[in-house]
Amino acid sequence: MNETTESPAVKLTGLTKSFGANQVVEPLDLEIGRNEFFSILGPSGCGKTTLMRMITGFETPTGGSVELDGTNVDSVPTKSRDLNMLFQSYALFPHLSVYENVAFELRVRRTPKREIDGRVQDALALVRLEAFAERKPAELSGGQRQRVALARAVVGRPAVVLLDEPLGALDQKLRKEMQFELKRMQREVGITFIYVTHDQEEALTMSDRIAVMSEGRVLQVASPTEIYDAPASRFVATFIGSCNVLDGVVDAAGTGVVVPGLGALPASVPADARPGSGVTLAIRPERVTMSPGSAAAPAGALLGTLVERVFLGDEWTFHVRLASDAVMTVSVPSGATAAALGAIADGSPVQLSWASSDARVLPAD
Ligand code: ATP
Repeated sequence: MNETTESPAVKLTGLTKSFGANQVVEPLDLEIGRNEFFSILGPSGCGKTTLMRMITGFETPTGGSVELDGTNVDSVPTKSRDLNMLFQSYALFPHLSVYENVAFELRVRRTPKREIDGRVQDALALVRLEAFAERKPAELSGGQRQRVALARAVVGRPAVVLLDEPLGALDQKLRKEMQFELKRMQREVGITFIYVTHDQEEALTMSDRIAVMSEGRVLQVASPTEIYDAPASRFVATFIGSCNVLDGVVDAAGTGVVVPGLGALPASVPADARPGSGVTLAIRPERVTMSPGSAAAPAGALLGTLVERVFLGDEWTFHVRLASDAVMTVSVPSGATAAALGAIADGSPVQLSWASSDARVLPAD
């Protein structure tokens, strides 16, 4: 039953999948909103494609249910679900023009001729290929072919388009361009995009929300800024962006974390954390301040030895060995501060500090 306009575009309830004894998607509840750009992000083999295939109906879940726009589709075949897919290996018909490639599905569905033309023109305008309508796929660049595939995926105006690593085949520069283009197109057409990727930068750039997956489990669902600034676990903290992690225990006062070999370090300890409980301290490299070392570190600062520096163009990365032998990464944008720090020779003492609010306390793995 189609309830109201309030239903989410996709609702998964207790959705799970096993292949034999191997559970590749653990029971999962998830709602994806209308017009949302939603990414499923995780390393290779974590179950992203399997999850997506269950939404499309290509794969039968072992348990749980899928609703599209408030309607249960568990017994609805893929072709009758109001969605479309775009794969990395988008296959265009080589003998058909761009126009006919985009029109193909509409013709199969016996859409009235007049309507077909308007829709194809709109779809080509969306991907900025109006001038290429008569070309054959072989006469297009890789990026242009990708755009044709995208036009084809949205021309039937499905409620949901699922994209499985669609930019994988493109070179780095084109990928970046297409990331912005995809986001623009998604906003323009107002279709829910579910985007599967193992590339954290891609997910951060485009998404309204991201689901981070590992080993069949969804670990966190949140906006890109939340995922980056407030990761819920060590896996999320280190998989998205780079992050320094130190294992320790909550101190007696419950205001910092004691790390073996380093003492009590400032951290934003959650109110409900028990003193003495094992935790992981997570600090982004750009939140650490480095300065030349002195004999004794002021309270709240750590002494270490600068061991290496790496120039990355827009920033410098410094590696600092701590008394515990752990190595911390500090990143500094290129400019006057980085230049001043560059005067510190490798092997020299340095001190590190950070605001306690920038050091997150995560459950120990
Ligand atoms: P990638 O990014 O490499 O595509 P993924 O996150 O999409 O990986 P899946 O393709 O969903 O991962 O695979 C998840 C796990 O399920 C893997 O261990 C895979 O080997 C297994 N798997 C997938 N399909 C099948 C199948 N038909 N039969 C048995 N095992 C399968």
